[in-house]
Parts: sequence; structure tokens; C-alpha cells
Amino acid sequence: MSIPPNKLKPEPQGDHTYEGPLSVLEVHLDKIAWNYLSLKKRLKAGADCSAIVKADAYGLGAPPVAKALFDQGCRHFFVSTLDEAAAVRHVLLQPDVIIYVLNGLFGAPLKEFFDMGAVPVLNSMSDIEYWSDFARASGKKKPAVIHLDTGMNRLGLSAKEVTALVRRNDLLQPIDLRYIMSHLACADQPQHPKNLEQLSRFKQLSAELGIACRYSLANSAGILLGDDYHFDLVRPGCGLYGINPSIGVPSPVHGVVTLRARILQTRDIDQPGTVGYGGEYKIAPPAKCATISAGYADGYLRSLTGHGAVFINGKKCPVIGRVSMDFITVDISALEQSPRVGDWVEIIGPHQTVDDVAAQAGTIGYEILTRLGKRYKRSYTGN
Ligand SMILES: *Cc1c(COP(=O)(O)O)cnc(C)c1O
Repeated sequence: MSIPPNKLKPEPQGDHTYEGPLSVLEVHLDKIAWNYLSLKKRLKAGADCSAIVKADAYGLGAPPVAKALFDQGCRHFFVSTLDEAAAVRHVLLQPDVIIYVLNGLFGAPLKEFFDMGAVPVLNSMSDIEYWSDFARASGKKKPAVIHLDTGMNRLGLSAKEVTALVRRNDLLQPIDLRYIMSHLACADQPQHPKNLEQLSRFKQLSAELGIACRYSLANSAGILLGDDYHFDLVRPGCGLYGINPSIGVPSPVHGVVTLRARILQTRDIDQPGTVGYGGEYKIAPPAKCATISAGYADGYLRSLTGHGAVFINGKKCPVIGRVSMDFITVDISALEQSPRVGDWVEIIGPHQTVDDVAAQAGTIGYEILTRLGKRYKRSYTGN
């Protein structure tokens, strides 16, 4: 069956064509590099700076991001799973690049870690036993990081398990222990008492283990807590990607994405009505609205209903009506010059940070970035 060509394309308005993508996600690798170097500059002498590139570099694309960071001197990369490690290793074959797998050994064939030059983070006694047995059987020491729980109660050895491990020192003998690490729960709140508690528990548990080793504690926000938290290796994630690590302070990092989508239709409201599903948003003339090609399937969260906004020619236009799967509708009545079909609107960019969008959605920048959809045409700039 053939469709008449004039039904395929709406009539073009003005000189705008219908070519090109409906939405574009630009990732500015030069800004990621700048954020890395500026975080690194804050470190005490002797501390090294890794990069957390888990979850596909917080949704931005681990291979190009890891390559850009490698060019800035980064040699330590943390991912969550062995599959993620493979994606990074694929583009960084250099033997001095070390890829750490945060989620531990669970479900992964042990030999693959080793073959890939990936270093597992051992989160439990059973992880340690497995890795130790594997190393012993292979007749060669195998590298690993040991994770101590200092108050997050998520992953890592408890104080009791540390005591048990001390009693079974044979377990560590075949392990080439690269770092002892822990993770901060409240580092984004510099005044939170848990920061100092975790710091002192980290030192105390490490002392109890009694192994000469290097240490790692700080995420992005932990870096900002000061030298005491830096130890030998820091592990920034969000700060690299332009998310402000700490709450209520000016951001020390630059935004790294520009997210834009096109206007698909504009509409003059000439009689009272409602906008979108549920008919909850009431609109009365005179008003103008525009329909934009992004929705919750693209990661423009449905919770932005009633709270979101986009920028058109630098002017803020509120989202009206419910966010739907593929579209949002925005009020453009306040614009002096009406935008046209095909014009771009800014969702994240110079006028609105990822943290702003997160605040509108009632979530955090991490969630906004990691949910960015597959339909955006991605481009990488500044490499
Ligand atoms: C995700 C993660 C980080 C990075 O945290 P940010 O807040 O994004 O800087 C560091 N360490 C561990 C163990 C993590 O899981």
C-alpha cells in the first residue's frame, strides 16, 4: 500500500524545512575535561583523581567521555558492572588504564575480570573468599579493591566482618589489594555530622585491618569537604557531568549538556479550553501555545507536569498540561515574536541547568541525566 506523498509531510510553514532531527543532545567534552581538571586542582598533594563513568557516564556516553578524560590524564575509571567495564575497555586499551567494577563479583565470570584488566570492588566476605580462591587457584596474585561500610549500610564490609577478616588473614594473601575504599552518604551537606563520623570510622576500620594500602573515600561532594577526605584517590561522578555536588552553594563546575527539541506546532487559543491529557490545565483566549517534540519517553519526566519550563529565544515558557510520552506543550503567549514550527527550544543549556530541571521535577540532576532518552540525536563537541 502506498501513501500519497502529500499526506506524509505537512505543508511547510515559511522557509522551514522538515529535515534534520527533532531533538538534539549535545555533550560538551571540553566542559567535562574542565570539570575534571578543576576538581583535580582542589586535591591535596599526592591524591589522584579517578572518574566515575558508571551508567554509561551518567547517561552521557561512557566511551567518548572516558576517552576525553583519558586525554586529561585520567587513568582510573569506575563502572558498576562488567559490561560497562567492557564498553570502556573497548576504547581505552592502554595497559595503564584501570577499570574498577563497583558492583563486585555478583554474577560475573571471574576470569573475565582478569582478562579485561578490570579490578573488582569486593563488597562482602563472600566476594573476598571467591576472589581469594580464584587467585590462589591461578597461582598469581589478583588485583582488587575492598569496600568497607562506614555508615551507608548499602555495600561493603561491616565492622564485624572487618574483625572476621583480620582473623583470616590468609584470605588476603593472594589478593593484590589496590585500595581500601568507602562511600559517603551525606557529603552533599557539608555540615552533616555523618561526614566526620564516616571519616573517623573509615580510619578506624582501616587501622584495624592493619594492611599497608592506599585509600579512597570521596565522591564529588567529598572532594569539597577538604583535604582530610582525599586520601590517595578521589572518585568524582556528578561534578564531572555538571551537577552541583553540594546543596546550597554556588556550583564549582560547568554544565556539560545542551538539550534542545523542536516546535512541532504552534496554536492560537481563540476559545476557552484545556491542554493535554486529563483536561486539567485550563486555558482561555487570548493565548498561544507550542507543542515540543520531547516527552517522558525521552526522559522529560512526567513529574515536570505543572513545574517544567523551556526557553525560547532566551525567554522562559512554562510547560502547560500534562507531560505526555512524546510531547510537551508550552505557553508562548508572553513571547514578543512568535516562534515558528521547526524552531528549537532549550530544555537544558545556558538558561537552565540540569539541577534546575531536577528541582522542577522534584528529583536530583543524577536522575535527569541518567534518564536522557535514546531518541535524542547525540553529538559530542569540544574533543
Ligand atoms: C556513584 C559513586 C561515586 C560518585 O558519586 P558522585 O556523587 O556522582 O560524585 C563515587 N563512589 C561510589 C562508590 C559511587 O557509587
